Amino acid sequence: MIDSPYQVQSSGKIKLNKIAPDDTGPFKHKDDAAAQTDKNLAELKCLQERLYANGQHAILIVLQAMDAGGKDGAIEHVFGGVNPQGCTVTSFKVPTHLEAAHDFLWRGHLAAPPKGMIGIFNRSHYESVLVERVKDLTPKKVWSRRYELINYFEKILADEGTTILKFFLHISKKEQKERLQARLDDPQKHWKFNPADLVERKRWNKYQKAYEDALGLCSKPHAPWYIVPADHKWYRNWVISDLLVRTMKEMDLRFPPAPKGLDKIKID
Ligand code: ATP
Ligand code: MG
Repeated sequence: MIDSPYQVQSSGKIKLNKIAPDDTGPFKHKDDAAAQTDKNLAELKCLQERLYANGQHAILIVLQAMDAGGKDGAIEHVFGGVNPQGCTVTSFKVPTHLEAAHDFLWRGHLAAPPKGMIGIFNRSHYESVLVERVKDLTPKKVWSRRYELINYFEKILADEGTTILKFFLHISKKEQKERLQARLDDPQKHWKFNPADLVERKRWNKYQKAYEDALGLCSKPHAPWYIVPADHKWYRNWVISDLLVRTMKEMDLRFPPAPKGLDKIKID
């Protein structure tokens, strides 16, 4: 079990407005954190090779955030250096017709990483208790049952060999405004601007409440939620890389034993 001030305790009651999104933990300067992050990323690369070679465990990373919360940036900066053959990224968009015709966990289960792989969920099965709840897309009597079902689902994955880490990238409303404004101002970011994000921004408080419930009801020792202070991208990257590397080190990943008789083989 990894020790972290950002881990949500099981059945904890969360108040997001009591948690500082601009926390920088032990670091005063960006460069100090960035140097540590680089070290973590080098370790991550080695650990991922072991995970792949070992082939007995999978890792599932769940990333959730408000719009412009930094999910894409975290994926780019934390996972940009790992071998692409050992990693999958799945973005959870508005469900397709086929997805909507199945139970709400179907697409998550389909995308869950097989042994040896790191699977990253950019948004996830949690959208079914976030956007669906906030926008009233699903009746309360249906979404309110889902927390328990999510816990069962994650227990199945964990019991069958998947290590799960869930990161909520916690930004302030002010930081979101600045990031959305940058998407308007910078021609290189225009493609990221989505007017619908402004509509969702009006529902900020409802989303925060829905996140508080999801984080509080679905953080378990086998599938912990971490609330990552994410106003500073460099700190966010350090927190995620640190938690991931520490978790993978605890998994004691080893290369598989060499086949017998390797020392007798002669290559002509
Ligand atoms: P960014 O943070 O950069 O805005 P994004 O993750 O919002 O990126 P988009 O393609 O803009 O990516 O949006 C995906 C949309 O799909 C989100 O608004 C999300 O809430 C929505 N979505 C995901 N799952 C569901 C669901 N089960 N029901 C309804 N909408 C969903
Ligand atoms: Mg969006």
